[in-house]
Amino acid sequence: MAAAAGSPAVTMFTSTTDYCSCKAHRAFRFPVVHVGTAESNSFFRTRSITTARNFSSISPRSSSSVLTAAMTTDASAKVIDGKSVAKEIRDEIAAEISRMKDSIGVIPGLAVILVGDRKDSATYVRNKKKSCESVGINSYEVRLPEDSSEQEVLKHISGFNDDPFVHGILVQLPLPRHMNEQNILNAVCIEKDVDGFHPLNIGRLAMRDREPLFVPCTPKGCIELLHRYGVDIKGKRAVVIGRSNIVGMPAALLLQREDATVSVVHSRTKNPEKITREADIIISAVGQPNMVKGSWIKPGSVVIDVGINPVEDAKSPRGYRLVGDVCYEEASKIASAITPVPGGVGPMTIAMLLSNTLISAKRVNNFM
Ligand code: NAP
Repeated sequence: MAAAAGSPAVTMFTSTTDYCSCKAHRAFRFPVVHVGTAESNSFFRTRSITTARNFSSISPRSSSSVLTAAMTTDASAKVIDGKSVAKEIRDEIAAEISRMKDSIGVIPGLAVILVGDRKDSATYVRNKKKSCESVGINSYEVRLPEDSSEQEVLKHISGFNDDPFVHGILVQLPLPRHMNEQNILNAVCIEKDVDGFHPLNIGRLAMRDREPLFVPCTPKGCIELLHRYGVDIKGKRAVVIGRSNIVGMPAALLLQREDATVSVVHSRTKNPEKITREADIIISAVGQPNMVKGSWIKPGSVVIDVGINPVEDAKSPRGYRLVGDVCYEEASKIASAITPVPGGVGPMTIAMLLSNTLISAKRVNNFM
C-alpha cells in the first residue's frame, strides 16, 4: 500500500520511537518525572480522566496512578507529567488502530511534506514518522528541494487530498520564503487538516454550536492534560499568555468552549502580571524564557507551560538546555500543579497529531 502511488518522491516509513518532537522541539528524550498519589481539592476532581468534548479527546480508558493528580508532602506543586500521559494516549491509539484494522482492514495514514533542508525540520519529520509507526499509523513523506515551486507543493497536496490511504496531511513549517504559506495551508482539504490550521477549522472552533473537524495539536494537548489530571475548567478564570495562530489563540478558544472565563495576554498588554495573577488556570505560549515569575501566579493555580526556550548551559553537552516561559523554581512553590519543560506539553503535541489522524480515519470510514 502506498500513498500517491507512482510518485517517486513518496516514501513509506517503517520504524518506531517512543519520544516526541514537535515543530518547536529538538530530538530530546525527556527526563522521567515522578508523581505521587491522588488528592482531592477544589481544583482536582478525584476522577482523573475526563473528556468534555469529543473533538478534543480520544476515549479515556483508565485512571492509572500516573494520570491521577498527585500531591507532594511539601509545599511544591504537583507535576503534570506530559510524557507519561502521552505514552498512555499512544497506547490507547495503538489499541484503537488495531481494533479498526481487525474490524474493517483500514490503517490510518499520515502524509508529511517537507520542503528544503533545514536540519530541525528534518528532525521533526523523522520523529513524527517514528511516532506514527510506533502506534501503527502508515506515514508517507514527500521531500522537496528548497528551490521547489509553490505549484510543486500544491501538486503533492492535491495528490494526498485525493489519496484514500492518506487521512491526514501535514506541511512542515516554516516553508521557504518564496512560498505563500497561506495558499499552501489552505490547499489541504479540511477533512485531512490534522494540524487544525485551516481557517474553516479555526472558524468552527471559534463559533458556538459548530464543531471543528480537527483541533490544533498543541492547545489540544494542553486541554487533554487538564482533563486527564481532573482539573475543573468550567467557571474558572483562565489566562492565556500569547495569541499565536498555532497555540495561544486556539488555546483561548478551547478554554472558552470549556466554560472558563478567559483573558488573553500579549506583547502589548499592560500589567500582564496583575492579569495573570487572577488566573486559576494559566497557559503560557510566549517563547520568552522564565518570563512568568512566581509573583505572577495565584496560589493554588494550575500552570501549563507551552514555551520551549533554549538557554545557554555550559554544563550541558549541547551547550544549552531547554526551559519554559514560566520560572519553574518559583512557580512550583506557588501553583497547585505545573507542567515541566521538557516533559510537559511537548510530548502531548505529537500524541494529539496521532489522535487527529486516527479520528480522521475513523470518521471517513464511519468506524465508531
Ligand atoms: P509566537 O508565534 O512567537 O507567539 C508568541 C506570542 O507571545 C505572541 O502572541 C506574542 O504577542 C506573545 N508575546 C511575546 N512576548 C511577550 C511578552 N513579553 N509578554 C506577553 N506576550 C508576549 O510563538 P508560538 O509559536 O505561539 O510559540 C510560543 C512558545 O511555545 C515557543 O517557546 C515555542 O517554542 C513553544 N511551542 C511549543 C510547542 C510544544 O509542543 N510544546 C508547540 C508550539 C510552540 P504578540 O501577538 O503581541 O506579538
